[in-house]
Amino acid sequence: DQLCNQIAAGEVVERPAAVVKELVENSVDAASQRIRVLMHKGGRSLVRVVDDGEGMSPEDALLALERHATSKIASVDDLQNIRSMGFRGEALPSIAAVSRLELVTREKESVLGVRILVEGGAIRTVEEVGCPAGTSITVRDLFFNMPARRKFLRAVDTEAAHISDMFLRLALAHPELSWQLVHQDRKVHDFPKASSLQDRAYQVFGPPLAKTLLPVDFQAEHVAVRGLMGPPELQRANTRSLYLFVNKRPVKDTLLIHAVLTAYETLLPKGSYPFGILFVDVIPRLVDVNVHPTKREVRFRDPSLVMDLVRQALTQALASAMH
Ligand code: ADP
Ligand code: MG
Repeated sequence: DQLCNQIAAGEVVERPAAVVKELVENSVDAASQRIRVLMHKGGRSLVRVVDDGEGMSPEDALLALERHATSKIASVDDLQNIRSMGFRGEALPSIAAVSRLELVTREKESVLGVRILVEGGAIRTVEEVGCPAGTSITVRDLFFNMPARRKFLRAVDTEAAHISDMFLRLALAHPELSWQLVHQDRKVHDFPKASSLQDRAYQVFGPPLAKTLLPVDFQAEHVAVRGLMGPPELQRANTRSLYLFVNKRPVKDTLLIHAVLTAYETLLPKGSYPFGILFVDVIPRLVDVNVHPTKREVRFRDPSLVMDLVRQALTQALASAMH
């Protein structure tokens, strides 16, 4: 079983940024208002996510560290209607299998919380503690027990940049929450709760860039496309400045990227790419988010319909900016 967890971990967790994504998505699911991410050495030695969400009872906290324990699916019916970020109950046990994980959590209505230490998948300590309501999960020494995987981690700056990029995507997806990213005691990002995506874009990218962005707001029967796209003048050298989301999850879906590029095709010189923040919201049964453990690619039930709508939405937004 431990081996099973290690294998699963290899797929869920490719690098510290993937740990951040899984932990933060759980914090979002737990109705947090404020999420803080800390890293040391680009997350190679430590990643910590602290939230003020629902927290877990000691029993649930232990259960959460077991494989396929998810509180988010009660029936096969639910599987068709996944609205929360996670649903597989695989992330926590996978991460715990390849790190030294410390979970501290308390439900609001409990006086005491619980602290659990897991090392390479083995539970070392379970104790009652006084702690703030919410959950704090610390992941130390990722891949300490998988030297081959550990070797593949990049330099501190590279891993830190991946975490920072993932953090920005998650913060853009949830303007209604407040976010902090700290690297070795240095505050890298601090975004108070914002009232709209536009406000969040101002916080993240600064006014000079943010004020040039064009609003996209397009509604079809089962699909909504909204966001803020750069004008054709705002050119980038690659697709990294496309912040794409499906049902609020950050994705790097090839088809979606292609649809966006098509809308800009005649407007941009060859080799340059647009800037944009784009949310595609699809009713859950029209999208399969369970294609890949890291959930970066999605599978639409009707890809050509979605791609068409995205193109239409962007073409409309760009056209109205010309007038
Ligand atoms: P999933 O998110 O797919 O359910 P995870 O392994 O990511 O699986 O998490 C397992 C369970 O642990 C979740 O279903 C949830 O009940 C609980 N959990 C994890 N993180 C938190 C958190 N920050 N706050 C409250 N509950 C959490
Ligand atoms: Mg999860």
